[in-house]
Amino acid sequence: MKTNSKTKIKNLASPKGMRDLMNEEYYNFQGFFEKAQEVAVYYGFKPIETPIMEHAEIFTTGIGEGTDIVDKEMYTLKTKGEDHLALRPEHTASLMRAYIEHGLQNTPQPVMFYQYGPTFRHDKPQRGRYRQFYQFDLDSLGSEKSIMDALVIKAGMSILEDAGAENLSIDINSIGDKECRNSYIKELTSYYRKNISSLPTVDRERLKNNPLRVLDSKEEKTKEINLNAPDAISFLCPACKKHFKEVLEYLEEMNISYNINKNLVRGLSYYTRTVFEILEEKGSEDGTPLALAGGGRYDYLARQLGNKKDVPAVGMSIGVDRIVAMPWYKKLSPRIMKKPKIYFIQLGSEAKLKSLNIIEILRKAHIPIAQSLSKDSLGSQLAIAEKLQIPYALIFGQKEALENSVIVRNMSNRSQETVKLNNFLEYLKEIK
Ligand code: AMP
Repeated sequence: MKTNSKTKIKNLASPKGMRDLMNEEYYNFQGFFEKAQEVAVYYGFKPIETPIMEHAEIFTTGIGEGTDIVDKEMYTLKTKGEDHLALRPEHTASLMRAYIEHGLQNTPQPVMFYQYGPTFRHDKPQRGRYRQFYQFDLDSLGSEKSIMDALVIKAGMSILEDAGAENLSIDINSIGDKECRNSYIKELTSYYRKNISSLPTVDRERLKNNPLRVLDSKEEKTKEINLNAPDAISFLCPACKKHFKEVLEYLEEMNISYNINKNLVRGLSYYTRTVFEILEEKGSEDGTPLALAGGGRYDYLARQLGNKKDVPAVGMSIGVDRIVAMPWYKKLSPRIMKKPKIYFIQLGSEAKLKSLNIIEILRKAHIPIAQSLSKDSLGSQLAIAEKLQIPYALIFGQKEALENSVIVRNMSNRSQETVKLNNFLEYLKEIK
């Protein structure tokens, strides 16, 4: 579309469900990401960053049709080169694509990654639900051992606790593997068929494509029907039962309390065996639990994406937007956020000319400063320094510019001393 200087943009607001992060909110996010990375590294996770877009089929195949994410919520586009791409609605399928593409199965297993960044779902925006939101993921690929499920859960819990969360609980379930899941799905389907006349239309549709999804339906009628639905745990084969029991034992050993939720299936088609959610007990507006993170095993995803062999894997996604909005969030401050030690004040044209050189000396000495180079009067600059409660002001006027010196003013007792620029670095060490 051609525009000229007279064209008016009709809508200057950011797209619905997407927002600008700035000021305190920006620092809150960055502080969380830094803390989460630090914890992840202690548990042995390494960083990876996959592209924000993938070929759409990575998600349609991986997450599966019959899920809201794929059927309704994905942002897709056709490029000029006719590639069909999608903005990532989650990180797991991209990670598995990267693992396969880089032949990581030929390296020592498991491979443990953390990754974070924006994800996109065309969902209905509401409190705690955005169309562009941020997830922090932890994943272990290449091991079927139950201790990896426990490690991922523990690392995620530690991140949430370090961010200030206190009233966390875990909902956990096992949906079995291909040995046992099919007989469970058969039983579940026949149960819903018996109740078909009371089942709402959306859930009748779900029943056709993805019967497990009916279990986590939000429809009141279906919730009632679900109370007596058969549960997956009773259908687990011995190997899945053993795996689930071990995961629970690890959690008990770590004093992590959990609640077995037989309706928890986490609709995505790649999940096998363990599925879980970490909830803030009274996090929602109406005082009901709010999901802060969710995850599970996805042992068949690799083959679904075309890999010759299965790659047993387990992971979780932490919803960062919800955490930083919680009253208990510790407002972790990121390393880039530095409290200014010195307020730099300049007076007169000669001083302004040399100001950036002085600021460079301070930067090289790693002294965080604040300044208002665009201002001219001493009064207005000092007023800002007072307001920001910065301990020292550096006054650089005409005389100082000519004599290569600066005045250092202690803002609490208002004492001042003149320091020659060639002694300045030594002097700064004293006040650091
Ligand atoms: P999911 O990938 O759906 O299991 O989501 C994992 C976590 O991401 C959830 O527990 C939420 O905390 C968060 N989350 C999911 N969808 C959204 C959204 N639309 N807006 C904000 N956070 C979300």
